[in-house]
Amino acid sequence: MKQTDTLLRFLFDGVPVRGALVHLDDAWQQVVTRHNYPAVVRAVLGQMVAASSLLAANLKFDGTLIMQLHGKGALRLAVAECTSDRTVRATARFAADIGHAPLAELLGEGGTFVMTLEPRDGEPWQGIVALEGDSIAQMLENYMLRSEQLDTRLMLSCDDQAAAGLLLQRLPDGHGDAEGWPHVLALAETLQQEELMTLDADEILYRLYHQDEVRVFDPQTVSFACNCSEHRVGEMLKLLGGQEAAEVVLEQGSIEIGCEYCGQRYVFDEDDVNRLFDCDVISAVRESLH
Ligand SMILES: [Zn+2]
Repeated sequence: MKQTDTLLRFLFDGVPVRGALVHLDDAWQQVVTRHNYPAVVRAVLGQMVAASSLLAANLKFDGTLIMQLHGKGALRLAVAECTSDRTVRATARFAADIGHAPLAELLGEGGTFVMTLEPRDGEPWQGIVALEGDSIAQMLENYMLRSEQLDTRLMLSCDDQAAAGLLLQRLPDGHGDAEGWPHVLALAETLQQEELMTLDADEILYRLYHQDEVRVFDPQTVSFACNCSEHRVGEMLKLLGGQEAAEVVLEQGSIEIGCEYCGQRYVFDEDDVNRLFDCDVISAVRESLH
């Protein structure tokens, strides 16, 4: 049976290189069907979701890896997240008339890439770099080299149905044949996008490296999940302030907020807002308006 929503990590014996293969099916479909993204946005997000799950595979803490692209062009924001529990989610903001163009052009002047590692407990760590490279894969390869001093090769691909990727990284403190890296890369170059999209991970590994000694870890499942909640949205409203929140409720009857990632809608009426601010802020603001 075809493997779906699978992440497979592997390690070369005798060559200081680690790798991972990912094939996202339902997890990617959950992102696609929740939004009506233009093809160009979908392509960016699919590659980012695949890449985030590949890079999160090596996280050494419980938490979330967040990739963001920021721009002032037609593509304003693209976000992909993967947690250490291997759940993914993604969202984007863009101009309605976004056309087809290379990534750098879509993001426009001052495009930046932000990588955030957010442990469940503890302070987040963030790296911000100017956009470099023509593709998501190239941009991430440059980023990993600059910020982590890690030689990285990424192959990413996606369509409406699936998002897939291959990650190879040279381990700086690894033992074994240092000359093995070019050999591993040269074989990876022979992998076609179509093979990445259609073959199972173990078929790809066999196809590329059946003459090498590769240790393969147990396959892991990746799924879609959003961690939004009424509590979190409430905390956001608290930042807005009681005055502002009450004014919206008085004007519109309630505050309705939709999660950008999963589309879940949260509605706060008069009672909810009063409870949130722990006082009758609605009456107070109503009176102050008269
Ligand atoms: Zn959500």
